[in-house]
Amino acid sequence: MSAGAAEKRTPLVRSVNAIKSFGDTRVLDGIDLEVHPGEVVCLLGPSGSGKTTFLRLINQMETLTGGRIWVGDELVGIVERKGRLHRRTDADIARQRARIGMVFQRFNLFPHMTALDNVAEAPVQVKRIPRARARESALELLAMVGLAERADFYPSQLSGGQQQRVAIARALAMEPELMLFDEPTSALDPELVGEVLEVMRTLAAEGMTMIVVTHEIGFARQVADRVVFMDGGVVVEEGTPDQVLRHPRHERTRAFLDRVR
Ligand code: ADP
Repeated sequence: MSAGAAEKRTPLVRSVNAIKSFGDTRVLDGIDLEVHPGEVVCLLGPSGSGKTTFLRLINQMETLTGGRIWVGDELVGIVERKGRLHRRTDADIARQRARIGMVFQRFNLFPHMTALDNVAEAPVQVKRIPRARARESALELLAMVGLAERADFYPSQLSGGQQQRVAIARALAMEPELMLFDEPTSALDPELVGEVLEVMRTLAAEGMTMIVVTHEIGFARQVADRVVFMDGGVVVEEGTPDQVLRHPRHERTRAFLDRVR
């Protein structure tokens, strides 16, 4: 998607001066970022720069210390009524979170459930979809991530790469508008990284809106519409993969890229 086309649309995610502190430590120091529908944004930066915290704020696993984040036209965590801000109810937060799929470094599948049931479980429990139908959809999703033949396997019978692909299918089962990936390949043996990136590439090509925290520079170069480099809780620079990865403007970005390449 061209930048021009993106700008005309309403952002799916809009962060304005997002601040997060843990105690006295400020880990996000005013993040401004917009992600448009269908965009793939890769977040790069050294360990501790606040990337995971930013994803967790979007998904409401943490609460903002300051600033605002919108998903679609809704403020995250708070709601404005008659000019006053109120904290959202737990049910409302759960509803907001259901719009977002998140994939973690560790796959966290239910160990006592087959791949198929791992994928079908949330639609049954949360969306009250009849189990037979949820399992049908789950099988389609497993086919999409290349694991139809492994539907009846338990997590312990699957490789790390296969487990992560099940985790992606599980997130997709809730039909999210937005997918957040937090270093989805960094716990994998190197030979298993490619199969997970391939699924993510397919998802991107299908138009899914994605924010991906990753050290996979090759993936960012090929798949990202935009690359955002963070350091010390701020966005140091952002731009097209070509701008940020080939022609970084900031010394901090250059130093980071030299280290990870
Ligand atoms: P990144 O994903 O870029 O590695 P993180 O968002 O995980 O960075 O962490 C940013 C900083 O916030 C780190 O210094 C980390 O130690 C700190 N941090 C993250 N979560 C917590 C927490 N729950 N309590 C205290 N400090 C935290």
